[in-house]
Amino acid sequence: MSHEFDLLVIGAGSGGVRCARIAASHGARVAVVESSHWGGTCVNIGCVPKKLMVQASEYGDLIEDSHGFGWSSTRGTHNWATLIAAKDKEISRLNGIYVSMLEKAGITLFTGHARFKDAQSVVIEPSVLAPDATPRTVTAKRIVIATGSTPVKLDIPGADYAITSDDAFYLKERPQRVVLIGSGYIGIEFAGIFAGLGSTVDMVYRQDLPLRGFDEDMRAAMKEAITARGITQHSHASPTQIEKNDTGYAVTLDNGQVLQTDCVFMATGRRPKIDSLGLENAGVQTAKGGRITVNAQQETSQAGIYAIGDVTDRINLTPVAIAEGHHLADTLYSKEPPRTWSLDTTPKAVFFSPPMASVGLSEEEAAKNGVLDIYFTRFTPMRHTLSGRKDRKTVMKLVVDQASQKVVGAHILGDDAAEMLQGVAIAVTAGLRKIDFDRTVGIHPTSAEELVTLRTRTRETPKTA
Ligand code: NDP
Repeated sequence: MSHEFDLLVIGAGSGGVRCARIAASHGARVAVVESSHWGGTCVNIGCVPKKLMVQASEYGDLIEDSHGFGWSSTRGTHNWATLIAAKDKEISRLNGIYVSMLEKAGITLFTGHARFKDAQSVVIEPSVLAPDATPRTVTAKRIVIATGSTPVKLDIPGADYAITSDDAFYLKERPQRVVLIGSGYIGIEFAGIFAGLGSTVDMVYRQDLPLRGFDEDMRAAMKEAITARGITQHSHASPTQIEKNDTGYAVTLDNGQVLQTDCVFMATGRRPKIDSLGLENAGVQTAKGGRITVNAQQETSQAGIYAIGDVTDRINLTPVAIAEGHHLADTLYSKEPPRTWSLDTTPKAVFFSPPMASVGLSEEEAAKNGVLDIYFTRFTPMRHTLSGRKDRKTVMKLVVDQASQKVVGAHILGDDAAEMLQGVAIAVTAGLRKIDFDRTVGIHPTSAEELVTLRTRTRETPKTA
């Protein structure tokens, strides 16, 4: 059978675009089909607009902090509409860049919703991006599913009243009161955005500490940081219903408490976006929650069909999708060995104010492998000795495997944590030992120098069963 393309990528998000560009650079005839946003979740309704909004939310505190340095400016008021318009303008600039980047790479672009007809052909149907498109069939020798994920809401009465992150980027006005449900990445980041811009924020989560899965000390530090930002936390609680009333919405919790609010925001996880893809026509199998199962080469249960990024529901992070897409394109089309990544040491960051970033293992995970040396420090960063914001602490933790003396985990909460951690992630990925950190000269005066001057072990942690 002859095919129009060597490779068809479904979904022009971060992973799909990288895969398409690298495949084209290796000489493959490539097409990409996108149904809603060029650039996908990260560029349009994820990482990029989120970070701009986090930055917007930090200016109020910075203005207050400047008083300790002799400035007398006042906090003033924030104009939400101005922020959203500026954000939208930047996103549409990025959309244009994505399209031109793909076109310059010689890639054929289709707008519409792709549905498999069989394992080597899809029908492209009208979608939000191309409502009037005439359906057409496209054939390709290989097909990559890079359709990403979508937020899920809790299945409780009144859930339809709740918004998700998809909606939050387009709110016409900033709600005065927000109830945020969930304490994962999105819950914490949006709690910080709304609180920083002046909203009253209540966070509801079912654990004792936020950010399940992260290091326990860091979770405790994040809980303190959230409190320091003026956010009320309702731990050990879950919502049971949402009712609309004259003054907004009433959120009933399973502890009997009722929270009155203007906006209920569910940040309760995401699921793979496989709706109407026609996977059954192509023989692509899914596992629990719609996750497309893939082997180490990203190949699905159907030979010649691959999946990358959030639709595989493994590590749902943009740089991981990019790494997977790049690796797949190299594997399929490069004459050189494919570029590899160390996904075991994938760094993670939560963009709260202050942010938190981690690489490698938590103390709890590492203790399963052996006895640990733990180095921990908590201090007031230099800026806040004058700003007076004494509750804005920086926390750093190194998790060291005692036998090998390798630094197997590094965790930072504090101003610029994500910027600091990227370099540390190289050291942890390289398997460097504590002595390598010790013999590195610090940069003075910085917070980061603490990472190379942590001389005294805080405690020894025994191996757990
Ligand atoms: P997360 O999986 O991070 O967090 C989901 C939250 O919802 C948790 O607090 C979880 O509680 C809670 N939850 C789930 N089910 C229920 C339930 N039935 N009842 C009560 N609470 C519930 O999801 P997010 O939506 O925050 O983010 C989705 C993904 O997007 C992340 O996993 C991340 O990979 C990615 N992301 C990354 C960002 C970054 O890199 N900075 C930013 C934003 C998103 P519990 O912990 O108890 O299960």
